[in-house]
Amino acid sequence: MKTCGRCKKERVSPITLDDSMDVCGHTFTAQLPAEKCGACGQIAIQGHDMKLFELRVAIELAKAGVRNAEAFKFLRKAVGLDEAGLGELLDVPAEFVGYWERGDWPVDPRAQAVLCSLILAKYEQKPSTLDCLAVLREPRKLARKVRVTLIDALGTAAKTLQFGSAARSAPAVA
Ligand SMILES: [Zn+2]
Repeated sequence: MKTCGRCKKERVSPITLDDSMDVCGHTFTAQLPAEKCGACGQIAIQGHDMKLFELRVAIELAKAGVRNAEAFKFLRKAVGLDEAGLGELLDVPAEFVGYWERGDWPVDPRAQAVLCSLILAKYEQKPSTLDCLAVLREPRKLARKVRVTLIDALGTAAKTLQFGSAARSAPAVA
């Protein structure tokens, strides 16, 4: 058994608990894995589980299109960028990010859209948007002749057809 960080007794066991956070006037609740000490009652939630919870809340804000200073700041932190880092990606001075987050300026919808796509990419563990922005800031050398493979492209195309085609979305009539 694990040792308690507070009382040092070996009485720590895994539990699940409901935890909530208030963001932008909404209360978000999730069941989180945690560890509880049977001796002193100390409850510990792992940092990465809290980060995942924040990311899930950010997803909900992004999907709902909540565009205000608080949401913008929450999304930026959830994606793991500081003001300077986000400013660099958006090609704006870092101060602009501060203006949006303090409510001095209305949040730029394009900046919000980029941030939302970063959030969704991070959640799906496909950091492609971040890569696209980073590579724009620092272009790589592209050879004059380039051979490409179509396996990934075809795989994605097949998926799009499966989930997005009219044939699938229209109800089947017998
Ligand atoms: Zn303890």
